[in-house]
Amino acid sequence: MKRQMKQLNPFLIALLVSVVFLACERLSPRNTPPPTTEPARIKNVIIMIGDGMGFQQLGLLVSYARYAPESVYRPRGGKAALESIMEEGTIGVACNEPANALVADSGASSTQIASGKWAGGEMIGIDKEGNAVKGILEVAEEMGKSTGLVTDTAITHATPAAFAAHQTHRSKQGEIAVDLLEANVDVMLAGGLQWWIPQEANDPDSETHKELVRRTGGTIEIRSKREDNLNLLEEARARGLALCFNRAQLQQASGNRVLGLFGRSALMAGIEQTRAGEDPDRTIPTLKELTSKALDMLSTNPNGFFLMVEAGMIDWAGHGNDTGALLHEMIKFDETIALVHEWTQGRRDTLVLVTADHETGGFGFSYSRFNLPAPRSLPGSAFQGEIFQPRKNFGDRRLLDAIYAQKLTYREIMRKFDALPESQQEPKALAEIIEANTEFPITEEEAATILREETEPTGFYSMKDDFRRNLLARVVSKRQLTVWSTGSHTNAPVPLIAYGPSHVTSHYGKMMHSTEWGGKTIEVLRHGR
Ligand code: MG
Ligand code: ZN
Repeated sequence: MKRQMKQLNPFLIALLVSVVFLACERLSPRNTPPPTTEPARIKNVIIMIGDGMGFQQLGLLVSYARYAPESVYRPRGGKAALESIMEEGTIGVACNEPANALVADSGASSTQIASGKWAGGEMIGIDKEGNAVKGILEVAEEMGKSTGLVTDTAITHATPAAFAAHQTHRSKQGEIAVDLLEANVDVMLAGGLQWWIPQEANDPDSETHKELVRRTGGTIEIRSKREDNLNLLEEARARGLALCFNRAQLQQASGNRVLGLFGRSALMAGIEQTRAGEDPDRTIPTLKELTSKALDMLSTNPNGFFLMVEAGMIDWAGHGNDTGALLHEMIKFDETIALVHEWTQGRRDTLVLVTADHETGGFGFSYSRFNLPAPRSLPGSAFQGEIFQPRKNFGDRRLLDAIYAQKLTYREIMRKFDALPESQQEPKALAEIIEANTEFPITEEEAATILREETEPTGFYSMKDDFRRNLLARVVSKRQLTVWSTGSHTNAPVPLIAYGPSHVTSHYGKMMHSTEWGGKTIEVLRHGR
């Protein structure tokens, strides 16, 4: 066949092509141009999960970026990357409840996203009947694609785990680490070293401990949470994964398979990252740096890849009802989205989905009757002889800068207080720490109410330590104009943003349950559209 073509006169070919073209044109309906190119096929799928990121959390970021007088987004026209991809992509709404219940945790919800199957609460890669389910990462592997998981929490934490592990409960992180290795994930970049090293490493005099200190460069606390003496790092190395434990090692890592664990548990919180971001001696990589490395490595596979990136501490800020921490976690997620947005420029082979597994905290700005704004006159004719004086406080935009200015998370504030000698653990000391680290000082009496409460009776606040943070949020609420309705999750529908070729993103522009859009995404990966 090829030979015959070679012998054909080029003029004849041109003639044949135009005859066929004209024939097609005659057959096509009036005014519709014939398709000139095949629609782009999807080779790569990237799912980005803001754990606990409902529309209100997204709104906090966009309000800050646009309206804060001192917004760090000023040089970029006040526009968050999240806003850019919403503008260029398709926006849908995702419901996330698990099987036979109303409210999701990350285990069930991420299992549903990964597999398209209903799951029960706190399950990891298991369906509602109790069977292991194949998820999108495993489908990608079967197709010869590379796979990656990136998070700023532990790699064994519920959200990443649900994409590659199969365990009846999210707490089985030791077993989840083994599952992740057996699943042959090519790129794992996160925290959670404590689940990968043998129990004997807890003895500081042991050879294992000393060897781990040497290998990690001394930047991570060596403490195991395993209940056995498996050294999964050795196992990972035997399976061909390069190991790295700090930023320099990450930069140097070559090849296309890597296990990078940069913290005993989680990586830097957003507030800390904002502070440390420019420090050249910083040893812990940012979520954005991890994602960049993952894209470098995964994109060497000509068959394409699947990547899940999680900003997991949005959820943690939500549990603590900590608005300042939440804003910095959203900024951390947003700069990672900016990187992915940039990476996809000019590509037609990649689908990016930005979403959440559920909402955390029941958060929002809310107007109040406190601190009413001063009356002012307006130049408009309707207000001649009248004064503009709304009867509610709808919120001064300078509040956004004050929220951004928070220096420590509420958790760190409470730790600082707990670190004081017991005799100094008085309301006055707590008020002082809060005044030094936030723009929303509280009185000694208010500090006393936070310290008086040990537990709460409703059960919406899971831990004693959390509850003090929740109470602090209630105290600053009227000055910050923020409300939090719970210390746990709500079932609020969450954003589902699809970015990529429009004939693919259009699948996502509606209200869908996580099982529905999760299943759809597996189809897109399988069929390329
Ligand atoms: Mg998570
Ligand atoms: Zn949570």
